[in-house]
Amino acid sequence: MTQEEHSHVMTGASHLADCHPHHRILFDPIKIGPVVAPNRFYQVPHASGMTEANPRVRAAFRGTKAEGGWGVVSTGAVSIHPSSDDSPLPFARLWNDADIASHALTTEAVHKHGSLAAVELWHGGAVVMNRTSRLPPLSPSGVPWAATHIGFMGQQRPKPMEARDIDAVLNWQRAATRRALDAGFDIIYVYAGMGYLGYEFLLPEYNWRTDGYGGSLANRTRFVREMLEVTRDEAGGRAAVALRISLEELRAKPSDHYESEAHGVVSLLSDVPDLWDVKMDSSPNDCGASRFRPEGAHEPIIDFVRTVTDRPVVGVGRFTSPDTMVSQIKRGVLDLIGGARASIADPFLPEKIRQGNSDAIRECIGCNICIASWHDGVPVRCTQNATAGEEWRRDWHPERFRTAEEPESVLIVGGGPAGLEAALIAARQGFDVTLAEQRSDWGGRVLQESQLPGLAQWRRVRDYRVWALSQLGNVAMYTDSPMAVADIASADARHIAVATGAHWTTHLYSPLEIPSHPLLGPRVFTPEDVFEGRVEGDRVLVFDYDNYYLGGVIAEHLARRGSHVVYATPAGHASAWTFMTNELPYVYKALGEQGVDILTTTKLDHFDGHHATLSNLFNEQSLQRAIDTVVVVGLRQPNGSLYQSLQTAKASGDSALAGASITLVGDALAPGAIVHAVHSGHSFARALIDGGADYLRDEPVTLSEPQPVFVDSGNP
Ligand code: ADP
Ligand code: SF4
Repeated sequence: MTQEEHSHVMTGASHLADCHPHHRILFDPIKIGPVVAPNRFYQVPHASGMTEANPRVRAAFRGTKAEGGWGVVSTGAVSIHPSSDDSPLPFARLWNDADIASHALTTEAVHKHGSLAAVELWHGGAVVMNRTSRLPPLSPSGVPWAATHIGFMGQQRPKPMEARDIDAVLNWQRAATRRALDAGFDIIYVYAGMGYLGYEFLLPEYNWRTDGYGGSLANRTRFVREMLEVTRDEAGGRAAVALRISLEELRAKPSDHYESEAHGVVSLLSDVPDLWDVKMDSSPNDCGASRFRPEGAHEPIIDFVRTVTDRPVVGVGRFTSPDTMVSQIKRGVLDLIGGARASIADPFLPEKIRQGNSDAIRECIGCNICIASWHDGVPVRCTQNATAGEEWRRDWHPERFRTAEEPESVLIVGGGPAGLEAALIAARQGFDVTLAEQRSDWGGRVLQESQLPGLAQWRRVRDYRVWALSQLGNVAMYTDSPMAVADIASADARHIAVATGAHWTTHLYSPLEIPSHPLLGPRVFTPEDVFEGRVEGDRVLVFDYDNYYLGGVIAEHLARRGSHVVYATPAGHASAWTFMTNELPYVYKALGEQGVDILTTTKLDHFDGHHATLSNLFNEQSLQRAIDTVVVVGLRQPNGSLYQSLQTAKASGDSALAGASITLVGDALAPGAIVHAVHSGHSFARALIDGGADYLRDEPVTLSEPQPVFVDSGNP
C-alpha cells in the first residue's frame, strides 16, 4: 500500500477488490439527510480530552481516523454556551466566533481524507457545575444530577429553567450551529443523552414541569424537538442534523400508547433528525469495560429503533470484528457501525477490513484507560495504541514509520507488553531485532493477569503484537531464554532494552499513607503467588492499596475458587481507582455476588498466621478477623538488577557492551498500568530514529483581540 492509496476514504467496487466479499457491505455509501457518508464506519462522538487548548493535537487525532477509513469522524462534546461548563473536565466549545478557527483545523484534517466531520453540540444541563463561568447550571426542574458523586461534586445545584431560559438555550444552539457550519462541519448534533439537558427534559425523574414542556411524553419530547428544529433551520440544508439519545431508562418505562417510552420518543421524533445516534444512559453501561460488559451489549436496548424510523441509525458496542459489524447491519439493528474505543485502539480498522487484512486489527481490550484520561482531564491515552494523542506533537503515525538508514541490531530482554511493543516498533523501523523472554510464553504480566476473571480480552495486548511480529522477517524471538549479563554481552547488540518488568512486595501501609515495612511470615503472598497457583487457604485477606483492578480481581478469583475472602483497603472504595475506568459499580456487584467482605478506610497492621489485626485509617479503631492467608496487593518495585549489572559491566570496560546503548523500558523503568509499559516500549523504539526528540507544545488558535461571550439570552 502506498501513502497515496490510504490518504482518501475510498468508494466504489474497484477499491474493494481485496475486501472479503462478506464485508463489502460495510463500504456502502449511506445518505444522511443532505450529505453522504462514504461508508458505514462512523466514529461517534467521544471525549478526547483535547480542547481549544490543543487544536492541532486534536485535528491530527481526528484526521488520522479519517485517514484510516472512518467515513464519519465526530468531535467530542462541544459546549454551546458558558452555562455548559464542565471544568475541570476537558471539553471543547463554540461559544463565540473566536472558537471557529480551531475547529476548522479538525474539519480540514477530516475532509482531506474524504470523510464527513460531525460536531456534537452539547448543553450539559444539571450535570455541569459551571465552576469557571459561575453561571447557574440549568435544568428542567432543579433536580441535580449526581450532585453527591465524588469527582462530580461541585456543591452547586441547578436552577429550574424559566421560559426565557428555554428560549435562550434554543438561541445558543442556533448560534453554535452557525459557527459549526462556518467551521466546516457536515453533521450537527443535538444531544439528549447521558444525563445532559435534553435527556433531563425527556425523563420524568428530572422533569417535574407543569407547563408545555412537562407531563405527557409529547410535552417532555418538545424541548428536544425544538432543538432539532432550530438546528435544521439554521443548517439550511448545508449539514445533516443528528440526534444522540440515551434509551435505557426510557425503554424500561411502560407507556400507554407505545411498547415503552423509548418507542414513544423515537416514534414522536421519527423523521425529525436525519440520523439517530442511540446509546445507553450511564457511562459505566454506555462505555462498559470488557471485564463486565461484552461486545454488542447495547443491542437489547437499541435494537428496536430501526423498526420505528426510516432514518439511518448508528450505535456502538465496542465492535472490532467485521463479522459482528456485518451481522448488525444484516439483522437490521444498525445502518452505520459506530466506533469510539475501537477507533482509538486502531484508527485504521476500516482500511484493514477494506484490504482484507482484518487479522491486522489492533483490537480494543476494553480496559477504559481512554476514559480514565478524560476523568484525569488530559488528552486521551490508549493501552493498545501508543500513538493516540501523539500524532501531531511527536509525529507518531499508527501505521507508518521512518526507517533506519543503517539497520542496527537491537536486543530486547523481556517479552511483556513493553518488550513486545519495543520489538514491534523497532522492527517496523527496519532494525534487526532480537527478543528474549525467560518464560515459555510471551506476554509478561498480561499473560498472567488475563487468566483472572473478566480479563480475557486483555490478552489482545500480547496476541496482536506476537502476531504482528510473526509477520516480519527482521525479528528473532526466543522464549525460555533467561538473559544474564554474559548472554547479553555475547549478543553484541548496538542497542539493548531492558524490559524485565516489576514485582509485587508485601509492604504494609503506614498512617502517613505510604508503604511501610514488609509483612513477613508463612502464608503471606503477592499477586505473583496467585498467578502461579501458590495461594491456598480457607480464610483469605486481600489487603489492597494498589487501588486499581488487581486487588478486586484477585479477591473475586479467590472467592470463586471457594475461599472466604475479606478485602480490606485504606481507600474509600474497593478498587477505588476503577471509578476512573467506569468499573466501580460492577466491581461491587462482582464482589457482592461472591460474598466478599469489604472493609474500606482500613489498613492491615499485623498478621500472626491465624488472625489479622486491622485498624481504621482515620480513627485507628482496631478490629480482628480470623484469617489464615494474606495476599498483599500494594507496592510494586522495578526488576532493576539486570540493568544495574549491565551498567556496572559497561562502566568497568566490558568491551562487548562498550558501544551499546542500554535503556530501561516499561515496568522495569517505573511500574505502572499496562498503558504506561506499552507507551514506554514505543518511545524507546521511536527514539532509535528520532533520538527521543522533544514534543511540540500546542497553542490555542486565537483572534488578535479577545471577544466577549454573551452569557445571557438576549430575550428579556
Ligand atoms: P512490562 O509491563 O514492563 O512489559 P512485564 O512484567 O509484563 O513488564 O514483563 C517483563 C517480562 O520480562 C516478563 O515476561 C519476564 O519473564 C521477563 N524477564 C524478566 N527478566 C528477564 C531476563 N533476565 N531474561 C529474559 N526475560 C526476562
Ligand atoms: Fe480500548 Fe483500552 Fe484503548 Fe480505550 S484505552 S481504546 S478501552 S484499548
